[in-house]
Amino acid sequence: MSEFEKLSPPSGGELIQIKRKRISVPDKPIIPVIPGDGIGPEITAVMRAVVDAAVAKAFDGRRQIQWMECLAGEAAMASYGTPMPDDTVKAIQKYVVAIKGPLTTPVGGGIRSLNVAFRQILDLYACVRPVRYYRGVPSPHRRPQKVNVVIFRENTEDVYAGIEYKAGTDEANRVRDFLVNELGANIREFSGIGIKPISEFGSKRIVRKAIQYAIDNKRSSVTMMHKGNIMKFTEGAFRDWGYELAKEEFAKDVISEDELWEKYNGQAPRGMIVLKDRIADSMFQQIQTRPDEYDVIATPNLNGDFLSDAAAALVGGLGLAPGANIGDFVGLFEATHGTAPKYAGKNMVNPGSLILSSVMMLEYMRWNRAARLITKALQATIRQKKVTYDLERQMKGATKLGSKEFGEAIISNM
Ligand code: NAP
Repeated sequence: MSEFEKLSPPSGGELIQIKRKRISVPDKPIIPVIPGDGIGPEITAVMRAVVDAAVAKAFDGRRQIQWMECLAGEAAMASYGTPMPDDTVKAIQKYVVAIKGPLTTPVGGGIRSLNVAFRQILDLYACVRPVRYYRGVPSPHRRPQKVNVVIFRENTEDVYAGIEYKAGTDEANRVRDFLVNELGANIREFSGIGIKPISEFGSKRIVRKAIQYAIDNKRSSVTMMHKGNIMKFTEGAFRDWGYELAKEEFAKDVISEDELWEKYNGQAPRGMIVLKDRIADSMFQQIQTRPDEYDVIATPNLNGDFLSDAAAALVGGLGLAPGANIGDFVGLFEATHGTAPKYAGKNMVNPGSLILSSVMMLEYMRWNRAARLITKALQATIRQKKVTYDLERQMKGATKLGSKEFGEAIISNM
């Protein structure tokens, strides 16, 4: 009997496996795809066409993704009666790599946010956002081409853990009483209270992921962004545990910024990654004034949330910003924008965010040749000024294309 209630996996597909702590991808991997709500289905169709074309071309037809359509959000309600069916969660767990369009969280379904629920259930602790510039995209920055960072934001801890008590409730009063009476804290009456847990385990695993990414992708530095000058035992500890981890596990590949100057006169030995840290406020300045000094960035949850969107703004906004939520092995790749319901079914919106997320997915699978084909073809299409409405309205002399036609232009540029 099938382990799924309603899904039937494609018959010719194969399983991605975990071997020696790495994912091992067969030639015909089954990849769950969640089209999502609103504009989701139309941008997903474009993304699939682009990925299929790139994979076929890059590997001469030897490799092919076996897409397995799964449901979540509003689309799942009709079929399963829940926005988050077990089928979908099981499929992502089993097949390891998956991609999703944006989702509507139905009101009153008992779930605050579907995206957060996916992260928690599947323990996808790293929110990964590469931010780089594509020539021709309108940007508010004078030298956006200097921005090329990959942000690893911790996804499960910090004030986002959801431990929060409303002012005046019994819970808030009890927490306040304990802190005031037992620990001598000074907290006004009638305060809302939120807790900010940051653990050694959570900090080390996100910094480990960022460093491993830097090694695998030949990046030159990892910067831990934190507010440890003020929040010493949470954000400061994040930084300290990060340095500790680097010494414990990456001594061969990583040197600290102090060592860079003390031992190497400011010149990192070839192939060595420099681990540094920056206070969050300074980082926000520097990402604008000296973006080329930053490469991979590891950060706790809240600061990472702000930095991801601020960095995306430097290169022209969220329209072309890809993202992924990644656990030890499972990777769920996604568009970073929402369902834009007013454009649903109009073949208008920019599928670029989801297409670039599929590029991240292909890189994660180490199908780099296909990933490069898409990136180059997308760049060429933008340079030809063939773009969707959102970019066309900001570019002089551009040709406005529908979502599908934009995808076709990318394919013809491969
Ligand atoms: P949104 O769907 O991201 O849309 C806001 C605006 O951003 C759109 O009106 C449009 O601006 C622009 N936009 C978004 N995607 C675009 C694309 N692909 N191409 C071109 N322009 C695009 O945000 P929202 O209206 O705040 O949220 C709508 C729903 O999405 C909500 O139910 C929310 O919960 C959900 N949501 C889901 C996710 C997710 O699943 N990851 C993330 C965020 C929000 P213009 O009208 O100015 O052209």
